[in-house]
Amino acid sequence: MEFAFVSGNPALDLAGTVRSRRDEPTDLLAAPADLARWVAACDELPDRVSVDATTFESALSLREAIYQLALDRVLDRPFDPGSLDIVNAAAAGPVPTIKLSDAGLQVSGDLVAVLSHLARSGIAVLAASHACLKECGRTGCTRIYLDRSRGARRTWCGMDECGNRVKAAAYRARRRASTTAEGAS
Ligand SMILES: [Zn+2]
Repeated sequence: MEFAFVSGNPALDLAGTVRSRRDEPTDLLAAPADLARWVAACDELPDRVSVDATTFESALSLREAIYQLALDRVLDRPFDPGSLDIVNAAAAGPVPTIKLSDAGLQVSGDLVAVLSHLARSGIAVLAASHACLKECGRTGCTRIYLDRSRGARRTWCGMDECGNRVKAAAYRARRRASTTAEGAS
């Protein structure tokens, strides 16, 4: 399964690697190698990191803490203190180094630096009072995203991920209804 980077923030994208959190949670980061692939796929992170069992555990605990704080923000309630501790501790670490060349931007650093970057990025969005955080409107999708659209009118985490699926389902339902109506007349 491919990773989606549609939340508008890499920390929220990390939280989105557990899908359908309320109904049937699916964890896209089941093993350290999955996390290494996710980091490589994320634009602002190094292309290559090594992940061992310990750093993998810290990454998953940071992910769950970010999700908890984002949910607190969506539900407009105080932040969970334990999750704040985890995110703040991760943010205090060293950050990846960046380098500009004709080839573009080069990001390097180990997984601890990656987690620090993700924690800082998460903090920036969670602290911004004007940032509009929303949960996706598709039933079953629990992804939280940053709505940067004009008037904050976005409904889905992503069109490919959810918007088109909802529209296709509505279309099928309309067709079924009209077929039934024709059959009845
Ligand atoms: Zn969605």
